[in-house]
Amino acid sequence: MSSDARIARHYWLPIPEASGRGGVRHAFPGARWLGTPSETAVCGIETPMAEPSEVDWICFPTCPECHQILKDRHSTRGR
Ligand SMILES: [Zn+2]
Repeated sequence: MSSDARIARHYWLPIPEASGRGGVRHAFPGARWLGTPSETAVCGIETPMAEPSEVDWICFPTCPECHQILKDRHSTRGR
């Protein structure tokens, strides 16, 4: 029995840019953020973590790389 799809769990979190202007919503492996000071996103960047504000959720665009990687994972059954 294969449960790869279920192992590949992830959550999204808006991450502000270091410059303080804007940010991007990245996907992270796991069920949810456990309060760690930094995490490695699905797209491979390591980023400091912080509690997002509601505005961050609305304003930050989804990271296209994270999105693509997760999409590819879901379509590994062939095409
Ligand atoms: Zn990303």
